[in-house]
Amino acid sequence: MKTTILGIDHLSDEIYSFNLAKPLGFRYIAGQFAEISLAAAVDQKPGNKRWFTLSSAPSEEILTFTTKIPTTKSDYKSLLGQLKPGDEVDISHPLGDFILPKLNTIPIVCLSGGMGCTPFRSILVEASHADKPINISLFSSFKSQKDVIFQDVFSGLGNRYHHYVNQRLDMQDVLKAAPDIATTYFFLAGPEGFIMELSAQLDNAAVPKKHIFTDAFIGL
Ligand SMILES: Cc1cc2nc3c(=O)[nH]c(=O)nc-3n(C[C@H](O)[C@H](O)[C@H](O)COP(=O)(O)OP(=O)(O)OC[C@H]3O[C@@H](n4cnc5c(N)ncnc54)[C@H](O)[C@@H]3O)c2cc1C
Repeated sequence: MKTTILGIDHLSDEIYSFNLAKPLGFRYIAGQFAEISLAAAVDQKPGNKRWFTLSSAPSEEILTFTTKIPTTKSDYKSLLGQLKPGDEVDISHPLGDFILPKLNTIPIVCLSGGMGCTPFRSILVEASHADKPINISLFSSFKSQKDVIFQDVFSGLGNRYHHYVNQRLDMQDVLKAAPDIATTYFFLAGPEGFIMELSAQLDNAAVPKKHIFTDAFIGL
């Protein structure tokens, strides 16, 4: 589906949110992602398409995806960095099942590494909009202060959901946020290395494998 860029927000040093018009009938669940294709051809593999989480919440009027455009970048990110409001991109239908369970009584602990905070922006904003009485704690970790994003959004949600920011996640703190290790669901999003390390730590802490849900940002 073709869609138009409505605006581009500069969130921090190298991180930008691209605001897109929501195509008619485009419905998604908080936590899903989509493939964004650019019109121009890209020489480097994997071509002119990348997957991006929809950092917007379904209840918001526009679609947003958020990414880093570093100084040394791929052809795709170079083109993305040249886009301006009014330009068009192609968006696929929403994909993925990194979504909250329907049952509001299941406690949720979310762990994000770097750009992995994008699905949690969508999930928490949507849960707050729907006034969901869920026990959610979010631990977001960032390599450096210049990578920190969305803190204003998470703080703006008030005390309903717990939110902690760290340079490195401490598993002892994470486990303390789970009211009961046997029943809490753990949601992990970020680069593959982050997912592998934290999944192994949860496994060591005897968290049942079926309660660990992951969204690995392959390519980061
Ligand atoms: C389910 C899912 C959800 C995702 N959600 C997000 C999201 O919300 N936000 C987000 O930012 N990403 C997300 N990603 C990752 C995203 O799809 C891209 O892979 C990522 O942003 C890197 O794209 P790239 O074009 O910079 O690098 P790629 O071309 O894919 O290359 C991978 C890495 O190689 C290096 N590289 C490539 N070309 C060059 C070059 N010319 N010079 C120097 N270095 C180079 C870069 O370090 C780059 O990170 C998601 C991935 C998945 C699978």
